[in-house]
Amino acid sequence: MSSLPQVAIVGRPNVGKSSLLNRFAGRRISIVDAVAGVTRDRVTAVKELSPPLELDTYDTRWVEFTDTGGWGVYTTDDTRIDDAGCDLATLTKDIEGQIGEAMDQAAVILFVVDARDGVVSLDETVVGLIRRRQLEDRVILVANKVDDESWEAHAMEAAGLGLGVPECVSATSGYGAKRLLEKIWERVKPVETPAAAE
Ligand code: GDP
Repeated sequence: MSSLPQVAIVGRPNVGKSSLLNRFAGRRISIVDAVAGVTRDRVTAVKELSPPLELDTYDTRWVEFTDTGGWGVYTTDDTRIDDAGCDLATLTKDIEGQIGEAMDQAAVILFVVDARDGVVSLDETVVGLIRRRQLEDRVILVANKVDDESWEAHAMEAAGLGLGVPECVSATSGYGAKRLLEKIWERVKPVETPAAAE
């Protein structure tokens, strides 16, 4: 792990955590696991964030994104092993692990929900885990799959989670991504030596 401010991406499966990470990374890279025929999604991406335009500064800030739920193992036919035959107890434990990791490391936690599915009970479970660990202050609530503004109204359901108004984004179209990155910039401290990012 680098010394850059960590931005952890957490949330239940299929909300688009790994898609968001790959959008931030700018390209898709899979890490091939030692086990033959099995790949893992890329789980971290270092990025230089630009300040919000209105601030009239060139002070960029470096962060490292981590998809803490990105350890899902895929077989060569794209079936996700942890999706097949997982039960809720296993899933909750997995998410608990994600949040636990975030607690230790993250300056910012992107808690991702799916604007199209609306809020489901597993999202509430994640909120419970965040609250129990008193991590609310680090959280930016993100409603993904807002591919265009027509989905914004759907996304607002997530405000009911009690973690503020969601940032509406789309990993697919890039909608809202710039604004979200600016929000993250506002939350992290500048790193003295950007070279550390290399
Ligand atoms: P993860 O399990 O949370 O990492 O979710 P993935 O990144 O694997 O995405 C789950 C599914 O949602 C995939 O089929 C993606 O193509 C889809 N998806 C992710 N982001 C978006 C988005 O912004 N818009 C739409 N329409 N689909 C998305």
